[in-house]
Amino acid sequence: MPKFAHPILDNIPDLWDVYKDVLMADKDTKKISSFEEPRRILVTGGAGFLGSHLCRELVRQGQEVICLDNFFTGHKRNIEDLLDDPNFELIRHDIVNPIFLEVDQIYNLACPASPVHYQYNPVKTIKTSVMGTIHMLGLAKRVKARILQASTSEVYGDPQVHPQPESYWGHVNPIGLRSCYDEGKRCAETLCFDYHRQNNVDIKVARIFNTYGPNMDVNDGRVVSNFIIQALQNKPLTVYGDGGQTRSFCYVDDMVHGLIALMESNPDVTGPLNLGNPGEITVQELAEKITLLTGSSSVIETQPPPPDDPIQRQPDITSAREILNWEPRIPLEEGLKKTIHYFDSLLHS
Ligand code: NAD
Ligand code: UDP
Repeated sequence: MPKFAHPILDNIPDLWDVYKDVLMADKDTKKISSFEEPRRILVTGGAGFLGSHLCRELVRQGQEVICLDNFFTGHKRNIEDLLDDPNFELIRHDIVNPIFLEVDQIYNLACPASPVHYQYNPVKTIKTSVMGTIHMLGLAKRVKARILQASTSEVYGDPQVHPQPESYWGHVNPIGLRSCYDEGKRCAETLCFDYHRQNNVDIKVARIFNTYGPNMDVNDGRVVSNFIIQALQNKPLTVYGDGGQTRSFCYVDDMVHGLIALMESNPDVTGPLNLGNPGEITVQELAEKITLLTGSSSVIETQPPPPDDPIQRQPDITSAREILNWEPRIPLEEGLKKTIHYFDSLLHS
């Protein structure tokens, strides 16, 4: 039986022995792409929490991914498993400065997202949202790439309409401690739509609601990671204010699928589209749930509320359901268990 289709190859008997493992391994692990051609996809903020999951999913789907990050809140360990993948490249760069690349799609996620991080250097936060987004839109315009902007539920501020539909213009303090993030992201949305109207840039704007899961930074300061780490260490869970404020938490895998669905939607779908899990819960209830799930002996400790802390937040995802045929599938308890497992392993490593 010839080992190769071509007789010349059969005359080199050692070749098969040398390369068979490589060839068969390639054959067995060949990725099945849901797209016809692999695309070159830039993910800014790709070493962060959301970005790292997005990069991993895009590589899994057979795409070529360029991960760009300045490592302000992101970590190499979030993407360590991807570093040897031929379809994955890592660039250390700050999007406040221009960059010239050839890409088909851009997911613009670069921006600190936790209040602790974005308030650390508020001027830099605005520069990232405004100058950074201009640079990414300029790149999209030059190479005719499609760009998805990671916007946020914070564009609604402390909302007076509940739940929040995309048509709501929001209730935002323009000069408060959260404004660097909220107004920066609002301006980034404006830029997307002006580049779209003025220069025909193919845009997608996702308004992301609170998302949680593995790869959140230990010092992130957001409520889910704070409570889990506190509970695992049997320290008091710090509830800010009376704990009656609400949020709606989406597990990261659901969010990544929503972002990809929006990116792959028809060109006439620009958004803004709300992406999030409509399951609303008070911060007090979240603290109790996490204490229960971790089996912790922690008590709940009340601390003063941060300024301009939104009282209620819940996405209206009717449009995402209708246009993208997308909705979150992972219940809060299941997502919390996965996240607890992640932080438990991290704290014991
Ligand atoms: P994150 O802080 O974990 O990730 C942000 C990443 O961007 C980090 O890797 C950071 O190093 C990088 N970065 C920051 N400034 C940069 C700059 N100037 N140049 C290059 N890289 C830079 O936050 P995340 O939760 O993964 O959020 C990702 C995106 O999604 C952000 O744009 C955020 O506003 C948006 N978002 C997230 C949530 C959420 O709940 N996770 C909610 C709404 C919006
Ligand atoms: N929060 C809290 N304890 C913490 C961290 C946050 O009670 O240790 C509250 C915070 O005041 C807010 C909610 O949890 O009402 C969500 O905060 P987070 O920083 O996660 O996100 P955002 O306010 O941006 O939605």
